[in-house]
Amino acid sequence: MPRSITPYRGRFAPSPTGPLHFGSLVAALGSYLDARQNKGAWLLRIENTDPPREQKGASALILKTLEAYHLFWDEAVLYQSQRQAIYEDHCQQLLSNDLAFYCSCSRSQLGGSGEIYPGYCRHHKTPHKSETAIRFKVTAESVCFQDQIQGPYCQHLHREVGDFIIKRKDKLYAYQLAVVCDDHLQGITHIVRGMDLLDNTPRQIALYHAFAYSAPIYSHLPLIVNNDGGKLSKQNLAEPISLTATRATLLYALAALKLQPPAELQTNSLDDILLWANNNWDKSKLSNIQHSICPTQIPQ
Ligand SMILES: [Zn+2]
Repeated sequence: MPRSITPYRGRFAPSPTGPLHFGSLVAALGSYLDARQNKGAWLLRIENTDPPREQKGASALILKTLEAYHLFWDEAVLYQSQRQAIYEDHCQQLLSNDLAFYCSCSRSQLGGSGEIYPGYCRHHKTPHKSETAIRFKVTAESVCFQDQIQGPYCQHLHREVGDFIIKRKDKLYAYQLAVVCDDHLQGITHIVRGMDLLDNTPRQIALYHAFAYSAPIYSHLPLIVNNDGGKLSKQNLAEPISLTATRATLLYALAALKLQPPAELQTNSLDDILLWANNNWDKSKLSNIQHSICPTQIPQ
C-alpha cells in the first residue's frame, strides 16, 4: 500500500532507566500530538532490552505518569524484554544473507569505544568463541533521509560509524536492531522523537534496507538541554516530572514545542488544553531548532 493511504501509526518508546523527566515529556507530547492531529494511533513501547540498566518500578511509573498527563495510548503496551526470539531471528536472517558477522574482538583490540570498527572479523560466519558479538556490515555509501523537522540528513556509515553491534557479547540485543524490528512489526509509519537520536537514524534506515522493510517518516524534536547546554537525561539525574502539578508542567512542555495556548484556556482541564494543542500543532515552527533550554520554573 502506498504510504499516503497507509493509516498513521506513531509511538513513544521510553527506556525504563528512571522516571520521565521534562525532556521525555516533550518527546512524548510531540509524538502524541503528531499522531492525534493525523487521526493516527499512538502506541507505547517500553524499551527494556538492557535489564542491568532498568530501574525497578520505572516502567509502571512511566505508564502512570503518561496517564496523569492524559496522554492515553492505543493498544497493549509492548515490552522489548519479551521479544528476544524476534530479535534473534532477525540477527540470523542478516547472518545468513552475509549482512552481519560474528565479532570476537576484545575492547583492547579495538582501541576504545570511540574508534570506528576496523573490520577485523568481517568474514566470520561462525562464532569463534562463546563470547561473541554480532555486527551489521555497513556499506560504503551515504545513507540520507529527509527529516520532517531538521531537514535533509546524511551519514556515511562506513566512514563515520563503522560496522555496528546488533547483538552484544553479553547476549543483549542492541537498541538499533530492536527498535527497527519493533517499529516495523508494529506497523509504525511515523517516528517523532528527540534530536539525540538523529544520528542513529541512518543506522536504522540501513537495517530497514537490509530487511527489505520500508522505513518510516522521521521527525526529530529539539532536545531539551540544561543551562550548560547538556542533555537532560536519567543518567544526569534530571528531575522526574510532577504527577500532581500536571497542568503547569504541560504548559511548559507545550511552550518547548512552540505552542502557547491562549490565556483563557490555561486554567482549563488537561483535555481542553490537549485538544487545543492538537488543533494547533505545527511542526514547521520547530524547523531546524535543535535545542530548547529547560525552564527552571517547572513545578516539582
Ligand atoms: Zn571483530
